[in-house]
Amino acid sequence: MPAMHASLPHSTLTFLACIVLSTAGCGKQPQPATARQAREVMGTLAEVTAVAADQTTARAAVEAAYAAFEQVNSLMSDYRDDTEISRLNALPAGESFVVSPETFFVLQRSAEVSQASGGAFDVTCRPLVSLWKQAGKDNRLPDQAALSNTVAVVGWDNLKLDPQSRRVTKGVAGMQIDVGAIAKGYALDLAAERMKAAGATCALIDVGGDLVAVGTQANGGPWRIGVQHPFQSGLIIKLALTDCAVATSGNQQRFNLIEGRRYSHIVDPRTGRPVQQAPSVTVIAPDGITADTWATVFSVLSVQEGLAKAKELPGIEVLWIWGDADQPQSAKTPGFDHYITP
Ligand code: ADP
Ligand code: MG
Repeated sequence: MPAMHASLPHSTLTFLACIVLSTAGCGKQPQPATARQAREVMGTLAEVTAVAADQTTARAAVEAAYAAFEQVNSLMSDYRDDTEISRLNALPAGESFVVSPETFFVLQRSAEVSQASGGAFDVTCRPLVSLWKQAGKDNRLPDQAALSNTVAVVGWDNLKLDPQSRRVTKGVAGMQIDVGAIAKGYALDLAAERMKAAGATCALIDVGGDLVAVGTQANGGPWRIGVQHPFQSGLIIKLALTDCAVATSGNQQRFNLIEGRRYSHIVDPRTGRPVQQAPSVTVIAPDGITADTWATVFSVLSVQEGLAKAKELPGIEVLWIWGDADQPQSAKTPGFDHYITP
């Protein structure tokens, strides 16, 4: 997960409509109450909206979401030495330890997405991410030897996961884990679960532009979300969402500048190089972890590969935007239109 940025990246998705208090919709509760709070979490800006039977419950649900974010951060951030992920990164090859159910779930889902994406998604890509970050600092492209040596220590199938014991073993020396492409989505799902347990009937949870919509707005209508235009200020599209998640990946906000050129913070683990195509990928999925991981996968795959892959994935819709401000180009899966609203 990223460190606290000096200035927070702008959200790529924006909540559009004001919440209207009403007796209709959302669980058919009489006079539902709404509470909303924005805070800085996991190096980005979060906004949590809860709808519940009364104001006290709605506020408690908002707090439950922020507690979930803190839990995920304290288990998985690689900007703190005491997290499970940092302790895993510090282990020598062949050594192992038992992680929490939360971290194990994230690592196991990571492996599943790696397998399903032919290795386009890989949480062991941290050495590559570091190499390109350093290249940005040095303002010099990494040489081929450094690139090949780094690619050699990356490989999701070298991370051994035992579901019975939740024991995680590092298969190769130099292996480093980076859950930056999945932890946010997982945190959204955990927050949604905790908010419901705290009495929220409906919710909208946004962490840095990745977002989960639980149920409807208080007035019974879908949550309305704006997707930021990748090349200019303003929105490119509006979405109406109910009980689903949306995530956007792209290099508009996070990149390494090397010799005057922008390099994406997303790497293709197979080549070791930053991805070059689609600058903006928006994925709609049934839950946050699916939307977050596949937004990264579709940033690595070409649009053609992605369109073919998306056909195998029920419930996942994708919008790609590339080109530049003068000539923006786009592609989408057929089902994406279902979510677009005027
Ligand atoms: P964003 O931060 O824009 O939401 P992502 O969800 O795609 O973007 O996460 C990108 C982060 O994931 C990178 O900063 C890096 O830490 C990590 N990462 C980069 N490439 C990959 C990859 N191919 N597979 C898994 N994680 C990746
Ligand atoms: Mg992601």
